[in-house]
Amino acid sequence: MRRKGNCRTHHQPRSRIMAKQDGTRNASQPALQVIVLGSGGGPQEHNVTALLVRSIRSGWGRGSIVALDAGVHLSAITRILEETQPSGLGAEIALPHVLESGPFKGMEIHSPSASTNAAHVTKHLIDAYLITHPHLDHISGFVINTAGLPGTRPKRLAGLPSTISAFKTHIFNNVIWPNLSDENNGAGLVTYTRLVEGGSPALGEGAGKGYLEVSDDLTVKVFSVSHGHCMERHTHRGSTSSSRFGSMDISAMPSPRGVQGSNAASGPSSIFRPSSVGHTSGVQERESICVYDSSAYFIRDSISGREVLMFGDVEPDSISLSPRNIGVWQEAAPRIAKGNLAAIFIECSYDDSQTDDRLFGHLTPRYIIQELKALAEEVETARQILVKLKPNKKRKRELEEANRRTNRATARAGGDDGPVSPKSIRPRGGSGSASVPSENGFDSPHTGTPATEIDFKEYESNMTPASFTSPQKATHPLRGLKVVIIHVKEKLNDDEPARDTILNELLAHERDAELGCDFIVSKMGQSLMF
Ligand SMILES: [Zn+2]
Ligand SMILES: [Zn+2]
Repeated sequence: MRRKGNCRTHHQPRSRIMAKQDGTRNASQPALQVIVLGSGGGPQEHNVTALLVRSIRSGWGRGSIVALDAGVHLSAITRILEETQPSGLGAEIALPHVLESGPFKGMEIHSPSASTNAAHVTKHLIDAYLITHPHLDHISGFVINTAGLPGTRPKRLAGLPSTISAFKTHIFNNVIWPNLSDENNGAGLVTYTRLVEGGSPALGEGAGKGYLEVSDDLTVKVFSVSHGHCMERHTHRGSTSSSRFGSMDISAMPSPRGVQGSNAASGPSSIFRPSSVGHTSGVQERESICVYDSSAYFIRDSISGREVLMFGDVEPDSISLSPRNIGVWQEAAPRIAKGNLAAIFIECSYDDSQTDDRLFGHLTPRYIIQELKALAEEVETARQILVKLKPNKKRKRELEEANRRTNRATARAGGDDGPVSPKSIRPRGGSGSASVPSENGFDSPHTGTPATEIDFKEYESNMTPASFTSPQKATHPLRGLKVVIIHVKEKLNDDEPARDTILNELLAHERDAELGCDFIVSKMGQSLMF
């Protein structure tokens, strides 16, 4: 999905920049920008879920921005530019002009018209659209915009196979909307990218393993999560079935992380259980409950290694028929422990007054805290593993001294065997080995093998000073993590705005939980840097 930018702000060869950045990233320098185009979850159609993500060092080059959902899109970009472009463009202020404020600060514009400039952003700067799930409030802007802005290359629509299948079957089907895709004799304005659940096994290396490139400097990894289940009871025939949801037998599907399988067909996953309907004409009938698939994206700046995690609509594991959030938390935890994952965008559709039977696959503040507690436990485990792998300074000195003693002793023992690389020497018998006190009080032999040194350096380069915490239970295990709330459903009455209630409830829960994360309730037109 990589495309060359045409106006990168730097001119150094990319490999040199990456090499420099990998080892010397300044944690205080933001690496990623997120622009909130739509922060709500309805019912207002002008403010439904849509985010833009870009690597700050990439500048505003062609294809440099990636969209995460597009419930709204072009109209929201237009509105932001209307509010942030200076007046007098083309008169007192010469064109082209580089914007000096607002979310698009630093971007060059060529017209006094905000809608012309917004069309340029959509047409040229945004190539890839990452879709969390095919509900209308996450896709309608993309669907409507794409027909009106033909360019010279197709838009990349990326999602889980179930999401792509839903687009093919239910959106770009020449009934609901023309087939804009490049499949089945479509118009060719959209090309589908089916993402591999849990990451592409053969792509990327090191901390970027499994990540797929979606712009010059952004890579992504997707996980499926659950977003409620349908209220109807279906009867499915045989081992493969075709309900109107296109469900199929998950027993034939690979199960992510040992939990319920995700469905590769269009629509929700099915969890089958024996039916009371019984057997007719030798065909087994089984009832199933359909669990809706949504997804969570890790989006990574490949220059700095900084990441954000963005959830689509999602329900709590504690009441899900197919709990899958824990798998995402296990993936996120080492990234938080190492200081690479800066923010989590997660939905909070309702305040705590919403009862469990009316959640419809969504979260409330009490469940966000419950989920974050599960994350915090995983982070503490990840930190303990890192601390065990990473000796403290005193222990490092002891190990280095032991290493030197080992090498000297072994070199002496080697006699006249000629020059030997210290790294290839193994201590002979007991004479060359050195013992250092181990953490459990027992002496353990340390042979100073190259593997020990390499592992040590690798972990050191991945860690920021903030992550050198003690292995004891931390009081604020998620300190420094930003939790950005999206998909708030407005109540549209004269009560306190839902976003205010939700923030107050989150802060009240946080006073008890002491997780240490910062909560931000997102707002349309907001720009966030991480
Ligand atoms: Zn939604
Ligand atoms: Zn939804």
